Amino acid sequence: MPSHSNDAISAGEPNQVGQDSQLDSRFLVERQVRARPRLPLLLGVEPFRRIRVIRTLASIQVFVLCALLMWFGVRNGWIAPLSGQILSGLMLSSCVVFYLAIRTGWSERFDEPALTLVQVLTAQTWIAGAYSITGEAHGATLILYALVMFFGVFNMNPRSAMISGAYVVLLASVTMYYKAQTDPVHYPPHIELVHFIFVVVTVPVMAYLATQIAAMRNRLKEQKRDLTAALERIHEMATRDALTGLINRRQGLLVLQEYKTLLKRNNLGLWVALIDLDHFKRVNDTWGHSVGDEVLKGFARQASKVMRSADVISRWGGEEFLIIMLEEPGTSPVTGIERLRVSLGDYEISPSVPDLRMGFSAGLARCMPDETVEATIDRADVALYEAKRQGRNRSLLAS
Ligand code: GH3
Ligand code: MG
Ligand code: MG
Repeated sequence: MPSHSNDAISAGEPNQVGQDSQLDSRFLVERQVRARPRLPLLLGVEPFRRIRVIRTLASIQVFVLCALLMWFGVRNGWIAPLSGQILSGLMLSSCVVFYLAIRTGWSERFDEPALTLVQVLTAQTWIAGAYSITGEAHGATLILYALVMFFGVFNMNPRSAMISGAYVVLLASVTMYYKAQTDPVHYPPHIELVHFIFVVVTVPVMAYLATQIAAMRNRLKEQKRDLTAALERIHEMATRDALTGLINRRQGLLVLQEYKTLLKRNNLGLWVALIDLDHFKRVNDTWGHSVGDEVLKGFARQASKVMRSADVISRWGGEEFLIIMLEEPGTSPVTGIERLRVSLGDYEISPSVPDLRMGFSAGLARCMPDETVEATIDRADVALYEAKRQGRNRSLLAS
């Protein structure tokens, strides 16, 4: 059963009644069969963690491919077996560490739970290692720097991008210089110089691009936040009555339709009560429009307090209100409305005119399965008219 809270009134603004404007969407959510995420053991179920795990697995794929290539290099004799084994071991161990840190949620204690910078710096270190053990094939490993930077471009903040860019330049220059000195046959100094120039030119450009993309991401995030807030405001304005804070007529009708569909499936009955304050015009005429407004707000406040939490109260227009009530077996729907009448008889409805007491007339109709909600409300309206005709301050059941 959907829950609806009128209790929020006590916590809300003084002139706002805590009707839930999102009742309809709550029904929709209830109806949805929540899709189970795929591969929950491998990827987890928490959406943001899953995204981080998937990205980490994507980079792990590259490491696994590199390990395979190293094994190929060892088999063909252009990588020394021990160096190949050590580097592959380090690479694959770091993969396991990163996967576990992210998959278990351990990394969520940090500001950046994806650990992007640490992952990028680690990968860059292993690439420098690969560069120095791959002999004649070492030039090919340079492309991996670009790949790692590319991963980072979409996830790093500007500071991390600059740090990783500087780290690559430093790491590459040290590795190239060292290899040119110690193994000039496989690492000829003039070739190393060309590699170095490539790194020095391309890496800062990529780091710069990363900062630009990070700025763009931030702008998009801000826009999305503003848009969400604007949508919420629009939804609020479209569904709520500004004076009383109750849901408005259109939303009331929507909720009624939703309730009806939902309850029909569960074989439960539904009632509507159309309420009209008695002699309200006199209030306006005697004390002014602002006191009239206070009375409307006071009625909304008191009705929200007195009615059951599952009942939904909407401002139908002027001094008319529509209350949607769930049928309780063995209890007459009139009971709730009469409880409201009694409590209103004691209620100081207008702070400006403390002695003022308001009564109302009500027409109640049960929603019949074979009629539209509009037809039900029409029947309630006829009963309300009859209640007025019989002298007001009473509730009548519709025929
Ligand atoms: P009855 O007992 O037959 O219902 O009489 P009534 O005086 O309550 O009803 P009537 O329809 O004659 O008057 C309703 C008044 O409600 C007329 C309108 O000016 C006033 N009204 C409608 N909306 C508002 C509002 O938002 N604020 C105020 N203060 N008055 C409103
Ligand atoms: Mg009226
Ligand atoms: Mg009236």
